[in-house]
Amino acid sequence: MDWQLEAEKRKDKMLKELQQLIAIPSVLSEETEPEAPFGKDVKRALEWFLEKGTENGFSVKNVDYVAGHLETGQGDELLGILGHVDVVPAGAGWTKDPFGGVIESGKLFGRGAIDDKGPTIAAWTALNIVKEAGFEFSKRVRLIIGTDEESGFRCVNRYFETEEMPTIAFAPDADFPIINAEKGIAGLVLSKTEWPQADELVSFKSGERTNMVPDLAEATVAGELAEWQERFNTFCARHQVSGSAIESNGYTTLSLHGKSAHAMEPDLGINAGILLALFLKDHLSGDGKHFTEFIAGHFHNDSRGRRFGLEYNDEVSGDTTFNAGVIRFESGKKATVAISMRYSVTYPFEEKMAKFGAEGFTLEIASNSRPHHVDENDPFIETLQSVYEKQTGQKADLLAIGGGTYARVLKKGVAFGMLFPGEKDVAHQLDEFVDIDNLVKATAIYAETIYQLACKK
Ligand SMILES: [Zn+2]
Repeated sequence: MDWQLEAEKRKDKMLKELQQLIAIPSVLSEETEPEAPFGKDVKRALEWFLEKGTENGFSVKNVDYVAGHLETGQGDELLGILGHVDVVPAGAGWTKDPFGGVIESGKLFGRGAIDDKGPTIAAWTALNIVKEAGFEFSKRVRLIIGTDEESGFRCVNRYFETEEMPTIAFAPDADFPIINAEKGIAGLVLSKTEWPQADELVSFKSGERTNMVPDLAEATVAGELAEWQERFNTFCARHQVSGSAIESNGYTTLSLHGKSAHAMEPDLGINAGILLALFLKDHLSGDGKHFTEFIAGHFHNDSRGRRFGLEYNDEVSGDTTFNAGVIRFESGKKATVAISMRYSVTYPFEEKMAKFGAEGFTLEIASNSRPHHVDENDPFIETLQSVYEKQTGQKADLLAIGGGTYARVLKKGVAFGMLFPGEKDVAHQLDEFVDIDNLVKATAIYAETIYQLACKK
């Protein structure tokens, strides 16, 4: 079977279907109903798939309007493929209609084109190629459609409360070749309420969410602008960041701009909060000094947790990382540091956390999503590798990431495509697009994968 040729034959149909799906603005909505828990557009996108499934002779199930599946094949075992039809908001500044599905110079543009409507359509087309070719199945194959991937996985969490866990599964919602390891993701909150020594620091604020490196920090300090301006400017110039200061009623507010980055690699950004603390610690006394010294002393030039004794690294997944994403201080009240920790697959989490304590700050583990890993010698992984290598002529290296994909809710699942190595990642960006040749190539890869894993030879 020439899988590439089969995928090419279906190219026009696939693009038309992708345009139909992109035309549904399936962004999470506040306006919900019992039969549309994430809003009516998200529901329409789910129903679009379920109707297609019924038309093409799949058995179809809607699970509480939060997820659904289309199933074909036969056998005791189940191969799962997980995609999602919810999208992040379009945002302003597109040069194309974000829900128009415009095709231009080999690309199809639209919100969801690469995350994750395009890849889900590729998997859907692949499944039809195998089904229509008339091969005898050895497993059931199920395309599972989620509708809340972008805002908390309520879809798959609910789905797997009642539905069968696939024997093996892949999620076309990240990168090729194969992501077989995902670090654990823990939300840590350090807090301290005892601040008896009032001083010049009135308030300190940086970041809104833990999964990003904050690009803005602000602090209000006692004293006139003239006292602060020059040394702050000097500090900013030395650290090659921009800052500004304004005065109001004898207090000066300092703002420092860093560089935002995803929490999975804090070193790619410049944490504005940590830098502002580094500046302030040398110019304050009392509690303000203690607080900013704590921040600078524990986080400046250290995203690996070394100063807390929490560093760890393994061969499968690399370094454990810490992003101090949200920092707050209010004079005389409470100080908090909320951290997104991405821990290596073999990290001794309980043991390390039990030892964690620092200068009167207490630790709360606000959330913890365990690491996910499928052994590289598993025959499932070997099959994916051989298909990928055959279809692309490239080596199928295994990848580990600090982010989370659908794979982590699976017993034995990996992320598999469909962004190819070196391709620009435009997920969540303006003018999101999918490269049409790559969409076809991914379809061929998925079709052969389904054949190899779920059909009798
Ligand atoms: Zn996605």
